[in-house]
Amino acid sequence: MKKIINLILFIAILSTPWLHAQDDVLNPYEGHSASAASENLITESYQIPSYNLYLQDWNNEYLKIKSLGISFGNNDDIKIILVESHNNAFAMPCDMYKITSKYGNRKGGMHTGIDLALTKGAPIRCCFDGVVRMAKEYSSYGKTVVVRHYNGLETVYAHLDSIYVQPNEMVRAGQQVGTAGSSGRASGVHLHFETRFLYEHFDPEKMIDFGSGDLISNILTIAKSELDFDTAPEAPAAAQTSAPAPTPTPTPAPATANNAPTTANNAPATTNPTPKPTSQPAPNNTANNNNSGSVIHTVVSGDTLYAIARKYGTTVDKLLKLNNLTENSKLQLGQKIRVK
Ligand SMILES: [Zn+2]
Repeated sequence: MKKIINLILFIAILSTPWLHAQDDVLNPYEGHSASAASENLITESYQIPSYNLYLQDWNNEYLKIKSLGISFGNNDDIKIILVESHNNAFAMPCDMYKITSKYGNRKGGMHTGIDLALTKGAPIRCCFDGVVRMAKEYSSYGKTVVVRHYNGLETVYAHLDSIYVQPNEMVRAGQQVGTAGSSGRASGVHLHFETRFLYEHFDPEKMIDFGSGDLISNILTIAKSELDFDTAPEAPAAAQTSAPAPTPTPTPAPATANNAPTTANNAPATTNPTPKPTSQPAPNNTANNNNSGSVIHTVVSGDTLYAIARKYGTTVDKLLKLNNLTENSKLQLGQKIRVK
Protein backbone atom coordinates (compact mmCIF):
# COMPACT_ATOMS: atom_id res chain seq x y z
CA MET A 1 0.00 0.00 0.00
CA LYS A 2 2.82 2.35 0.94
CA LYS A 3 4.48 1.65 -2.39
CA ILE A 4 1.33 2.56 -4.22
CA ILE A 5 1.02 5.82 -2.32
CA ASN A 6 4.64 6.64 -3.08
CA LEU A 7 4.05 5.88 -6.73
CA ILE A 8 1.02 8.14 -6.79
CA LEU A 9 3.01 10.90 -5.11
CA PHE A 10 5.80 10.44 -7.62
CA ILE A 11 3.42 10.70 -10.54
CA ALA A 12 1.77 13.71 -8.93
CA ILE A 13 5.14 15.43 -8.61
CA LEU A 14 6.01 14.67 -12.23
CA SER A 15 2.74 16.11 -13.44
CA THR A 16 2.67 19.22 -11.25
CA PRO A 17 3.96 22.22 -13.21
CA TRP A 18 4.48 24.21 -10.02
CA LEU A 19 6.87 21.60 -8.64
CA HIS A 20 8.64 21.46 -11.96
CA ALA A 21 9.27 25.15 -11.64
CA GLN A 22 10.67 24.62 -8.15
CA ASP A 23 12.98 21.95 -9.47
CA ASP A 24 14.24 24.29 -12.12
CA VAL A 25 14.90 27.03 -9.59
CA LEU A 26 16.90 24.63 -7.46
CA ASN A 27 19.04 23.44 -10.35
CA PRO A 28 22.60 24.06 -9.16
CA TYR A 29 23.63 25.39 -12.52
CA GLU A 30 20.85 27.95 -12.66
CA GLY A 31 21.14 31.25 -10.91
CA HIS A 32 20.42 31.84 -7.27
CA SER A 33 16.89 32.52 -6.15
CA ALA A 34 16.23 33.94 -2.71
CA SER A 35 12.77 32.40 -2.53
CA ALA A 36 14.11 28.98 -3.38
CA ALA A 37 16.84 29.40 -0.80
CA SER A 38 14.50 30.38 1.99
CA GLU A 39 12.52 27.19 1.46
CA ASN A 40 15.76 25.30 1.85
CA LEU A 41 16.76 26.71 5.20
CA ILE A 42 17.24 24.37 8.12
CA THR A 43 14.93 25.04 11.02
CA GLU A 44 15.82 22.37 13.56
CA SER A 45 19.13 21.35 15.07
CA TYR A 46 18.71 17.79 13.89
CA GLN A 47 19.07 19.12 10.36
CA ILE A 48 22.55 20.42 11.10
CA PRO A 49 25.13 18.04 9.63
CA SER A 50 27.37 16.31 12.18
CA TYR A 51 25.72 18.33 14.95
CA ASN A 52 26.79 16.00 17.77
CA LEU A 53 30.22 15.43 16.29
CA TYR A 54 30.75 19.20 16.64
CA LEU A 55 29.46 19.10 20.22
CA GLN A 56 26.29 20.94 19.21
CA ASP A 57 28.30 23.89 17.96
CA TRP A 58 26.82 25.75 15.03
CA ASN A 59 27.61 29.40 14.46
CA ASN A 60 27.28 31.67 11.45
CA GLU A 61 30.02 34.09 12.48
CA TYR A 62 33.40 32.44 12.86
CA LEU A 63 35.40 29.96 10.85
CA LYS A 64 36.74 28.43 14.02
CA ILE A 65 35.31 29.37 17.36
CA LYS A 66 37.34 26.96 19.47
CA SER A 67 39.25 23.73 19.28
CA LEU A 68 37.08 20.69 19.82
CA GLY A 69 38.81 17.65 21.19
CA ILE A 70 38.54 14.70 18.87
CA SER A 71 38.18 11.29 20.40
CA PHE A 72 40.48 9.07 18.40
CA GLY A 73 39.85 6.12 20.68
CA ASN A 74 42.94 3.95 20.61
CA ASN A 75 43.74 4.91 17.05
CA ASP A 76 46.33 7.30 15.69
CA ASP A 77 44.18 8.33 12.82
CA ILE A 78 40.60 8.75 11.87
CA LYS A 79 38.85 7.46 8.80
CA ILE A 80 36.12 9.45 7.17
CA ILE A 81 33.76 8.13 4.54
CA LEU A 82 33.45 11.04 2.16
CA VAL A 83 30.42 10.18 0.05
CA GLU A 84 27.76 7.65 0.96
CA SER A 85 25.09 6.27 -1.29
CA HIS A 86 22.34 8.56 -0.01
CA ASN A 87 24.37 11.69 -0.82
CA ASN A 88 25.23 13.27 -4.15
CA ALA A 89 28.65 12.54 -5.58
CA PHE A 90 31.65 14.76 -4.92
CA ALA A 91 32.03 17.82 -7.14
CA MET A 92 35.15 19.89 -7.77
CA PRO A 93 34.91 23.43 -6.34
CA CYS A 94 35.72 24.95 -9.75
CA ASP A 95 36.74 24.15 -13.33
CA MET A 96 39.94 25.09 -15.13
CA TYR A 97 42.30 26.27 -12.46
CA LYS A 98 45.97 26.54 -11.87
CA ILE A 99 47.35 25.91 -8.41
CA THR A 100 49.20 29.05 -7.46
CA SER A 101 49.87 28.30 -3.81
CA LYS A 102 49.79 25.04 -1.93
CA TYR A 103 48.77 24.29 1.64
CA GLY A 104 51.43 24.54 4.29
CA ASN A 105 54.13 26.75 5.67
CA ARG A 106 55.20 29.64 3.52
CA LYS A 107 56.61 33.07 3.90
CA GLY A 108 54.30 35.09 6.09
CA GLY A 109 52.82 32.15 7.99
CA MET A 110 50.88 28.99 7.54
CA HIS A 111 48.78 28.80 4.40
CA THR A 112 45.62 27.13 5.60
CA GLY A 113 44.26 26.18 2.18
CA ILE A 114 45.12 25.89 -1.48
CA ASP A 115 44.93 28.73 -4.03
CA LEU A 116 43.39 28.06 -7.41
CA ALA A 117 43.77 30.83 -10.01
CA LEU A 118 40.55 31.50 -11.90
CA THR A 119 38.91 34.10 -14.07
CA LYS A 120 36.59 36.57 -12.38
CA GLY A 121 33.03 35.32 -12.25
CA ALA A 122 33.94 31.64 -12.69
CA PRO A 123 31.42 29.42 -10.86
CA ILE A 124 32.42 28.12 -7.44
CA ARG A 125 30.62 24.97 -6.40
CA CYS A 126 30.06 23.07 -3.22
CA CYS A 127 32.08 19.82 -2.93
CA PHE A 128 29.61 17.68 -0.98
CA ASP A 129 26.03 17.86 0.19
CA GLY A 130 25.64 19.91 3.36
CA VAL A 131 24.38 23.09 4.97
CA VAL A 132 25.89 26.56 4.65
CA ARG A 133 27.34 27.55 8.01
CA MET A 134 28.75 30.94 7.00
CA ALA A 135 28.13 33.19 4.00
CA LYS A 136 29.57 36.64 4.55
CA GLU A 137 32.46 39.03 4.31
CA TYR A 138 35.06 37.60 6.66
CA SER A 139 38.13 39.70 7.41
CA SER A 140 41.02 38.94 5.04
CA TYR A 141 39.13 36.03 3.52
CA GLY A 142 36.80 38.49 1.80
CA LYS A 143 33.44 37.15 0.72
CA THR A 144 33.44 33.65 2.13
CA VAL A 145 31.20 30.61 2.17
CA VAL A 146 31.70 27.80 4.69
CA VAL A 147 29.70 24.61 4.30
CA ARG A 148 29.35 21.85 6.91
CA HIS A 149 28.92 18.44 5.30
CA TYR A 150 27.23 15.25 6.39
CA ASN A 151 30.59 13.47 6.27
CA GLY A 152 31.83 15.67 9.12
CA LEU A 153 34.09 17.93 7.07
CA GLU A 154 33.75 21.62 6.41
CA THR A 155 34.86 23.28 3.18
CA VAL A 156 35.75 26.95 2.84
CA TYR A 157 35.47 29.06 -0.33
CA ALA A 158 37.13 32.46 0.04
CA HIS A 159 37.86 35.67 -1.95
CA LEU A 160 34.56 35.28 -3.81
CA ASP A 161 33.19 38.03 -6.04
CA SER A 162 29.60 37.22 -5.18
CA ILE A 163 27.87 34.83 -2.81
CA TYR A 164 24.84 32.86 -4.01
CA VAL A 165 23.80 31.16 -0.78
CA GLN A 166 22.80 32.17 2.71
CA PRO A 167 23.56 30.80 6.17
CA ASN A 168 21.58 27.69 7.17
CA GLU A 169 20.74 26.89 3.55
CA MET A 170 20.91 23.26 2.49
CA VAL A 171 23.19 22.82 -0.49
CA ARG A 172 24.12 19.93 -2.70
CA ALA A 173 27.38 18.75 -4.17
CA GLY A 174 27.91 20.68 -7.39
CA GLN A 175 25.58 23.52 -6.42
CA GLN A 176 27.00 26.93 -7.18
CA VAL A 177 27.71 28.86 -3.98
CA GLY A 178 29.23 31.94 -5.61
CA THR A 179 31.64 33.27 -8.20
CA ALA A 180 35.41 33.64 -8.19
CA GLY A 181 36.83 37.02 -7.30
CA SER A 182 39.52 38.77 -5.33
CA SER A 183 37.62 40.12 -2.33
CA GLY A 184 39.42 40.45 0.95
CA ARG A 185 43.18 40.31 0.92
CA ALA A 186 43.86 38.62 -2.42
CA SER A 187 46.61 39.43 -4.89
CA GLY A 188 44.56 38.39 -7.89
CA VAL A 189 41.43 36.48 -8.79
CA HIS A 190 41.62 33.07 -7.16
CA LEU A 191 39.72 30.67 -4.97
CA HIS A 192 41.26 30.11 -1.56
CA PHE A 193 39.89 26.67 -0.77
CA GLU A 194 40.14 24.99 2.62
CA THR A 195 39.20 21.60 3.96
CA ARG A 196 38.62 21.28 7.69
CA PHE A 197 37.61 18.60 10.16
CA LEU A 198 36.23 19.69 13.51
CA TYR A 199 37.45 23.20 12.60
CA GLU A 200 41.07 22.07 12.11
CA HIS A 201 42.43 22.57 8.61
CA PHE A 202 44.29 19.92 6.67
CA ASP A 203 45.85 19.77 3.21
CA PRO A 204 43.09 19.60 0.55
CA GLU A 205 45.52 17.60 -1.60
CA LYS A 206 45.19 14.78 0.94
CA MET A 207 41.63 14.40 -0.23
CA ILE A 208 41.41 15.73 -3.78
CA ASP A 209 43.58 14.90 -6.77
CA PHE A 210 43.66 18.33 -8.40
CA GLY A 211 45.18 16.77 -11.53
CA SER A 212 42.33 14.40 -12.30
CA GLY A 213 39.68 16.49 -10.55
CA ASP A 214 38.37 13.75 -8.31
CA LEU A 215 38.64 12.36 -4.81
CA ILE A 216 41.79 10.36 -4.18
CA SER A 217 39.73 7.81 -2.30
CA ASN A 218 36.27 7.69 -0.80
CA ILE A 219 37.86 7.07 2.58
CA LEU A 220 39.92 9.93 3.93
CA THR A 221 42.45 9.03 6.61
CA ILE A 222 43.62 11.88 8.80
CA ALA A 223 46.37 11.30 11.29
CA LYS A 224 46.25 13.09 14.61
CA SER A 225 49.47 14.87 13.71
CA GLU A 226 47.93 16.30 10.54
CA LEU A 227 45.39 18.39 12.41
CA ASP A 228 46.70 21.62 13.78
CA PHE A 229 45.24 21.72 17.29
CA ASP A 230 47.59 24.39 18.51
CA THR A 231 46.31 27.13 16.27
CA ALA A 232 44.93 30.00 18.29
CA PRO A 233 41.17 30.27 18.01
CA GLU A 234 39.94 32.73 15.42
CA ALA A 235 37.23 34.16 17.57
CA PRO A 236 37.97 36.62 20.36
CA ALA A 237 38.24 34.89 23.72
CA ALA A 238 34.92 36.37 24.81
CA ALA A 239 33.17 34.47 22.04
CA GLN A 240 34.05 31.23 23.73
CA THR A 241 31.61 31.84 26.52
CA SER A 242 28.01 30.85 26.13
CA ALA A 243 27.05 34.48 25.62
CA PRO A 244 26.05 35.51 22.10
CA ALA A 245 29.10 36.06 19.94
CA PRO A 246 30.18 39.70 19.68
CA THR A 247 30.65 41.46 16.38
CA PRO A 248 33.82 40.07 14.85
CA THR A 249 36.74 42.43 14.99
CA PRO A 250 38.64 42.60 11.73
CA THR A 251 42.03 41.09 12.34
CA PRO A 252 45.12 42.65 10.85
CA ALA A 253 46.44 40.86 7.81
CA PRO A 254 50.12 40.00 7.75
CA ALA A 255 52.15 42.56 5.87
CA THR A 256 54.20 40.10 3.86
CA ALA A 257 51.54 37.69 2.69
CA ASN A 258 49.77 38.65 -0.48
CA ASN A 259 47.69 35.52 -0.58
CA ALA A 260 45.76 35.79 2.63
CA PRO A 261 44.37 34.06 4.60
CA THR A 262 47.01 32.55 6.77
CA THR A 263 46.78 31.62 10.40
CA ALA A 264 48.73 34.77 11.10
CA ASN A 265 45.44 36.60 10.98
CA ASN A 266 44.01 34.57 13.83
CA ALA A 267 43.36 36.02 17.22
CA PRO A 268 46.55 36.92 19.06
CA ALA A 269 48.31 33.89 20.45
CA THR A 270 48.05 33.49 24.16
CA THR A 271 50.62 32.01 26.48
CA ASN A 272 48.20 29.22 27.24
CA PRO A 273 48.15 26.92 24.26
CA THR A 274 44.84 25.41 23.33
CA PRO A 275 44.56 22.17 25.27
CA LYS A 276 45.37 19.14 23.22
CA PRO A 277 42.53 16.69 22.90
CA THR A 278 42.77 14.00 25.46
CA SER A 279 43.02 10.60 23.99
CA GLN A 280 40.15 8.75 25.51
CA PRO A 281 40.11 5.01 25.70
CA ALA A 282 37.45 3.36 23.62
CA PRO A 283 34.29 2.75 25.59
CA ASN A 284 34.05 -0.64 27.18
CA ASN A 285 32.11 -3.21 25.37
CA THR A 286 31.79 -6.91 25.67
CA ALA A 287 33.80 -7.61 22.56
CA ASN A 288 36.64 -9.98 23.02
CA ASN A 289 39.12 -9.07 20.33
CA ASN A 290 41.07 -12.28 20.83
CA ASN A 291 38.07 -14.47 20.45
CA SER A 292 38.55 -16.20 17.14
CA GLY A 293 35.64 -15.67 14.81
CA SER A 294 34.64 -12.30 16.21
CA VAL A 295 34.68 -9.31 13.89
CA ILE A 296 35.31 -5.82 15.20
CA HIS A 297 34.25 -2.70 13.36
CA THR A 298 35.84 0.66 14.13
CA VAL A 299 33.32 3.47 14.00
CA VAL A 300 34.00 6.12 11.36
CA SER A 301 32.15 9.37 10.82
CA GLY A 302 28.66 8.88 9.48
CA ASP A 303 28.33 5.38 10.92
CA THR A 304 25.03 4.32 12.40
CA LEU A 305 24.12 1.00 13.97
CA TYR A 306 21.80 0.42 11.06
CA ALA A 307 24.55 1.09 8.51
CA ILE A 308 26.98 -1.18 10.35
CA ALA A 309 24.40 -3.94 10.61
CA ARG A 310 23.69 -3.69 6.90
CA LYS A 311 27.38 -3.69 6.04
CA TYR A 312 28.04 -6.90 7.93
CA GLY A 313 24.78 -8.61 7.09
CA THR A 314 23.54 -8.60 10.67
CA THR A 315 20.78 -6.82 12.54
CA VAL A 316 20.71 -3.83 14.86
CA ASP A 317 19.28 -6.05 17.61
CA LYS A 318 22.24 -8.40 17.41
CA LEU A 319 24.69 -5.49 17.53
CA LEU A 320 22.97 -4.09 20.60
CA LYS A 321 23.18 -7.43 22.40
CA LEU A 322 26.76 -8.14 21.40
CA ASN A 323 27.96 -4.76 22.58
CA ASN A 324 25.72 -4.13 25.57
CA LEU A 325 24.29 -1.10 23.86
CA THR A 326 20.81 0.36 23.80
CA GLU A 327 19.15 1.90 20.80
CA ASN A 328 19.88 5.31 22.26
CA SER A 329 23.61 4.69 22.68
CA LYS A 330 25.69 7.20 20.78
CA LEU A 331 28.48 5.84 18.64
CA GLN A 332 31.83 7.54 19.01
CA LEU A 333 34.49 7.89 16.37
CA GLY A 334 37.05 5.15 16.82
CA GLN A 335 34.72 3.07 18.99
CA LYS A 336 35.07 -0.66 18.48
CA ILE A 337 31.85 -2.43 17.72
CA ARG A 338 31.73 -6.20 17.75
CA VAL A 339 29.70 -7.27 14.76
CA LYS A 340 30.09 -11.07 15.01
ZN1 LIG B 1 45.06 31.01 -0.07
